[in-house]
Amino acid sequence: MRLLASKLSGKVIQNVNSTYAGGGVAEILSRMLPLFSQLGVDARWSVIKGNEEFFQVTKKIHNALHGRGGPLSPQEISLFKETSQKNIEEINLSGDILFIHDPQPIALVERKKEIGKKWIWRCHVDVSQPIEPVWNFLEPWVTQYDASVFSAPAFSRPLPIRQFLISPSIDPLSDKNRELPQEMIEDVLSKYGVPNDKPLIVQISRFDYLKDPVGVITAFKLVKRSIDCRLVLAGGTATDDPESNTVLAEVKEKAGNDPDIHILLIPPGSDLEINALQRAATVVLQKSLKEGFGLTVSEALWKAKPVVASAVGGIPLQVKNKSTGLLSHGIEGTAFAIRQILTNPEYAKWLGENGREHVRHNFLITRHLKEYLLLFISLDHSEDVIYLS
Ligand code: UDP
Repeated sequence: MRLLASKLSGKVIQNVNSTYAGGGVAEILSRMLPLFSQLGVDARWSVIKGNEEFFQVTKKIHNALHGRGGPLSPQEISLFKETSQKNIEEINLSGDILFIHDPQPIALVERKKEIGKKWIWRCHVDVSQPIEPVWNFLEPWVTQYDASVFSAPAFSRPLPIRQFLISPSIDPLSDKNRELPQEMIEDVLSKYGVPNDKPLIVQISRFDYLKDPVGVITAFKLVKRSIDCRLVLAGGTATDDPESNTVLAEVKEKAGNDPDIHILLIPPGSDLEINALQRAATVVLQKSLKEGFGLTVSEALWKAKPVVASAVGGIPLQVKNKSTGLLSHGIEGTAFAIRQILTNPEYAKWLGENGREHVRHNFLITRHLKEYLLLFISLDHSEDVIYLS
């Protein structure tokens, strides 16, 4: 990696996304930037600005790229364009490589005509089956980039620009993932009022419809008919996600006053707490209806937890069914898979250990860093083989 980094000496890599906290993109950038710096690569991170209405539109775009919802109204289109124009005018772009994450800041590429430089669009969403008019709205910006990056082959689309396939990763040494003493795990459970008295089913996610927290509660209730257990649904809100309060209210209503269901609103930066909750889990769930990559799955697998997760987005890359976890379909299927794990502790342990090895080989940040360094280097080359020494 030092050899690769040396080839980028003197270059500034500027990342731009829409939030410093909340969600997978912010999670990865916050871990990656210090490592770039340690390698001597000048990588920076800026965030675009927008008001709540703008982020409502970008959330709609996000959902539409996942194939949910409908087209944008003329008002939404103008709002997106107006806020983008403001950002285009106001943002300080000092990078030699502009590394733009996801659709929210996509229009910044309009500055390319004026400032040149290399532009990469890093798409974290599965855009294989979008709501077409929304994709068509974004495409004229996408095609102005020098390159695009998708998390997996199945997520991408035919494009006239270069495409790179790079899956996300977790940092095993971060507070979110490092080993924790048992007392700390117990302390976090008691801080949140979760008794450690029966099997614990845990889903960590922003309160977002696509994470299906209401479906999680329904599945949990089915499991409870035959096995006594607890559910923890923990998550926060992201500054670029205005829907979360509505979802949280629905979740609370669905949970009612069942003392075995714990809805925890976790403030940003609670990495140790999330780590502890994942480690306290008997089963980790990720019952998403749509998913980008799903970092929470890698986080749980790295902790050798048996995972039950929906077969959507990047989850099947991480959960190989019956080998590194269980893939589930629908509410009944999720309840069935949870029961399988709770009634077979040996099998659960075996799945968890396999999961950890799978993450070790494929989804740690070192692999990700190396691939990003290669990507940056390749922008200055069009030949098939690049000789580095
Ligand atoms: N996360 C967090 N606080 C929360 C909920 C999630 O720090 O309240 C973290 C979670 O541990 C993971 C990331 O945010 O690192 C979520 O990434 P993922 O790819 O699972 O989903 P996204 O939110 O990007 O759709």
